[in-house]
Amino acid sequence: MGGPIHPRKAWAFAVPEEGRYLLLNATVPVALVCGLCGPAPVMDSHGLARLDFLVEGGAITWAGAAGSFPGGEPPPVVDLSGGMVLPTFVDLHTHIDKGHTCERSPNPTGSLGGADQSTAADLRFWDLADVERRMEFSLRCAYAHGTSALRTHLINLVPKQVELTWAAFRKVRRRWAGRVELQAVSLVVLSFFRDEEGSRRLADIVQREGGVLGCAVCCSELGGCDGDEWTTCNGDRNELLDRVFSLAAERGLMLDFHVDENGNEAARGLRSICEATVRHSYQGRVVCGHCCSLALQPPAELARTLSLARRARVTVVSLPLVNEWTQDRDPEGLRTPRWRGITCLKELHAAGVSVAVASDNTRDQFYSYGDLDMLEVLAQSVRLGHLDRPSMEAWPRAATSGPAAAMGLQGSHGSLRVGGAADMILFRARNYSELFSRSQHDRVVVRGGAPIDAVCPDYSELDAGDGRGGADSESNPGAGAIVSHTASAQPFVGAVMARALAGAPGPSS
Ligand SMILES: [Zn+2]
Ligand SMILES: [Zn+2]
Repeated sequence: MGGPIHPRKAWAFAVPEEGRYLLLNATVPVALVCGLCGPAPVMDSHGLARLDFLVEGGAITWAGAAGSFPGGEPPPVVDLSGGMVLPTFVDLHTHIDKGHTCERSPNPTGSLGGADQSTAADLRFWDLADVERRMEFSLRCAYAHGTSALRTHLINLVPKQVELTWAAFRKVRRRWAGRVELQAVSLVVLSFFRDEEGSRRLADIVQREGGVLGCAVCCSELGGCDGDEWTTCNGDRNELLDRVFSLAAERGLMLDFHVDENGNEAARGLRSICEATVRHSYQGRVVCGHCCSLALQPPAELARTLSLARRARVTVVSLPLVNEWTQDRDPEGLRTPRWRGITCLKELHAAGVSVAVASDNTRDQFYSYGDLDMLEVLAQSVRLGHLDRPSMEAWPRAATSGPAAAMGLQGSHGSLRVGGAADMILFRARNYSELFSRSQHDRVVVRGGAPIDAVCPDYSELDAGDGRGGADSESNPGAGAIVSHTASAQPFVGAVMARALAGAPGPSS
């Protein structure tokens, strides 16, 4: 006998699995719709309007102001009664190789320094099964929350990381094709590029894997300071960046940097990268993550860097949740932080620089929380960055069309496009205050016109690799063999590895 229908299910089942149907009375950020038909819709002060969508054969075939659908045979309708609709999310900066390791290898202080050391310590748990299991878990979370494209950094400081992260990434990318479009970035530190031969080998691996080249510049707690020969390299920074750009240009690779992730005014890596971008005519192909110390520059220096960033057409991706967690931490845990750590989001946007927000770390040494839910990231960014006044109009782009363009996916992701796939998220919330006040776990994710039946995996699925299950590489000959018998990994052995294993400051989150 039929009991009461779960309200979430009732809502989801209202969307047909296939065929032709009309979504009525959706509240939508008009800036995210391409190819609107008929009369222009009336927008409110946040750029929202009531729209209807026709979905046919998995695609959006018509979009227009509510009530303006032309006559003819009326298709079945789903009345959203003002519920918001967004395109599926694009998460531009994540670390799914490190995710879900914070319980087995906790960061003792919660600071950046503590994160680098405990990340190095977690390496003993890594083998292919462990990395792949955690990546898979992360992607199931992202997919269930409505993300359709995601870029991850892969920590590549030591040979074991190079081998395991790319091998696991290759497998999950194949498995997730068509559901979550995946890109990966090699993450090392700027000083790594002093090793000419090793740099070339890494760039070759990235090219072979279809990846993005990257490194950390002026990051870590000492970023920008003369003593930091790890990521700042004041003596030869421009020469090293020239090498990075040349390696990328020779192979047609996009670039993605961790930059200025600290509260040091001296950290001006963004400026150096923008100058290198112009020098190498690499405009539009460079992403800069974090850029926190931009917020501490004197006005003239800020203005100069903003105009350079605009000229270089870099995308700045801000990671506010992680920044507020690691920065201005008292190692003793007694003092309340004063500095939020987020970059000049509004000033960058006003200067014409493309700005994105993204998840960054999830449940690892750089951030103990997170579930790859871009709605949470956007909601927190709005609150931390005061993005809701005077108007939200520009900011939904930061989680959708902006990062899609940075990934080269603007034609297929990040907007509600007439003629494109019906990939969208339906919410019961009818405006931004309703949207950002609840977690919206009853949202309905529609992919190719059909609601997906995806839920976040249970944490117990990670237990095999949590450190109690015995995935310890030191006692696992299989994992060791991956490193020691692979010639391509050899150039990475040496100073970089010794330093990482000794617990020296690492690159960044
Ligand atoms: Zn990061
Ligand atoms: Zn980070």
